[in-house]
Amino acid sequence: MQFDAELLLLAMAPVFLACIGWEAWHLRRTRPDAQLYSWRDTLCNAALALMQQAADKLAWLAIIPVYAFFYDHYRVTTWQANWVSFVVLFIAQDLLYYVFHRCSHRVRWLWAAHVVHHSSERMNFSTAFRQSLMYPVAGMWLFWIPLAVFGFPPKQIVAIVLINLGFQFFVHTQAIGKLGWLEYVFNTPSIHRVHHARNERYIDRNYAGVLVIWDRLFGSYVEEDPHDAPVYGIVEPLHTYNPLKATFHEWTSMAADFASLRGWRNKWRALFAPPAWAADYHARRAAGSNASSRMADVEENHTTAFETPRRP
Ligand SMILES: [Zn+2]
Ligand SMILES: [Zn+2]
Repeated sequence: MQFDAELLLLAMAPVFLACIGWEAWHLRRTRPDAQLYSWRDTLCNAALALMQQAADKLAWLAIIPVYAFFYDHYRVTTWQANWVSFVVLFIAQDLLYYVFHRCSHRVRWLWAAHVVHHSSERMNFSTAFRQSLMYPVAGMWLFWIPLAVFGFPPKQIVAIVLINLGFQFFVHTQAIGKLGWLEYVFNTPSIHRVHHARNERYIDRNYAGVLVIWDRLFGSYVEEDPHDAPVYGIVEPLHTYNPLKATFHEWTSMAADFASLRGWRNKWRALFAPPAWAADYHARRAAGSNASSRMADVEENHTTAFETPRRP
């Protein structure tokens, strides 16, 4: 592969910017009162994208040798570079993306990075730029190691990961309605609007990257209901346009919970329980309940807390 795959998203920047320009113009004409764009929000999103691209470029230097190690020593087969292997790689990585994304909403350590993508209360093409430079620390790259074991060279893994993310830019819009039969196969704007919503019926649904078949297979699919418009953002709202605060707020909150909670079981939960557990903890603390009696309560009901969590 001659093309430097790591620069794929930067190379697509003109297309992304043209889409943002079209969408802002289109929405101002068709929904002038909706104010679906804000300069501060969009600039924050752009800063987050640049920070993440810079961090990713550095991270690949460390991660690609790890993939190479698994490819050289543990691969179970070797694929010829052709369309068949491309399609297999694409489908396999999209399934792993589904697993990564679902885990990112169910494990606070991963959510601490992924929350950046969800913390805006607007939804437009520029929302796709909201990414975290902490993904390499959270361990997103671990989810692609099976591709190396499955026989795909590191450069191809990097390329397919970025192609998948590049596609996802186009589902972040309120300017496009439902797309007929495509809704059964692909992640679409309607499907992804649901994913960004915090309405009770929408939260923690539609984890698709490119193919929505995984949500339909594994029971996480919910259709957008025209009578229940998505309300965007997170359960514990982030009132800032500062990209550094947006990047680190959940990490600092997690560290504070880890330090203040007593007992290793609770400290473990502060890091790895579903984000809903932390939201519940914060709500109880804000309500002024006694911390130790509250935690004793959670101890007693921990099965319920884990199996029917309230979402972040
Ligand atoms: Zn998500
Ligand atoms: Zn998104």
